[in-house]
Amino acid sequence: MSLQLDDITLTYPDGDGRVTALDRVTLHVPAGTVTAVVGPSGSGKSSLLAVAATLVTPDSGTVTVGGTPTGSIGRAERAELRRRRLGIVFQQPNLLPSLTALEQLQVMAHLDGHRPREVRERAEELLAAVGLTDQARRRPHQLSGGQRQRVNIARALMNEPSVLLVDEPTSALDHERGAAVLDLLARLTRERGTATVLVTHDRAHLAVADDVREMVDGRLTAAGPARDAAGGAPYAPTPELDSASDSSTATC
Ligand code: ADP
Ligand code: MG
Repeated sequence: MSLQLDDITLTYPDGDGRVTALDRVTLHVPAGTVTAVVGPSGSGKSSLLAVAATLVTPDSGTVTVGGTPTGSIGRAERAELRRRRLGIVFQQPNLLPSLTALEQLQVMAHLDGHRPREVRERAEELLAAVGLTDQARRRPHQLSGGQRQRVNIARALMNEPSVLLVDEPTSALDHERGAAVLDLLARLTRERGTATVLVTHDRAHLAVADDVREMVDGRLTAAGPARDAAGGAPYAPTPELDSASDSSTATC
């Protein structure tokens, strides 16, 4: 299932006026592909994900998930769509401190009338897919930052989402662990046919993307074919991106 954003404009109140966070953004993400979105802090990347996740309603424009225009359905249906179709990976894992890795995944589905055994098997399968079988019984404080982020990703996949929205998943990780998380995301996208949007400030991540876009002042521009971007031309990173990727503590 694909994700389609058409002509999205989003403004926030700002003093007496409004600030434009997204300015007529159009983006199509086919199933089984990764679109990377790069751009300086404050350019609108997280706003784009919030709109795609149907958590924020844009001033105008449409978000279509697998053929369903999300603006024309009710709030309850939208919440249902979010739960069943969307996987959201925020920058910080936000794991529950008292639960084991396995339980973090299980609680995603328990309310949903699934059989506990099926839920457990699925959770175990996903932990295996992210290389955490041996850590299944550990709680967050017993896991490394990279392992926590992998739990976060596995948890987002628990309800078999069609669309995966990922906001700077490696900002708290060192380069090597970040690369492993990115490879995992790319592999899961292709294996499971998700339409994945990856917000990142790290140029090295562009190698896994099928398409690279740059966000500047709320406008989304084509940054060129992704695989070429990793090798240099035609994508030219902005200076802000370069400096952001130097800092392992960068937050956007
Ligand atoms: P990025 O993720 O690229 O750093 P954001 O989407 O977070 O950018 O922000 C885009 C713009 O919208 C910024 O000017 C930011 O200050 C503004 N903004 C974001 N969220 C809010 C909000 N909830 N209320 C008001 N302004 C916001
Ligand atoms: Mg952001």
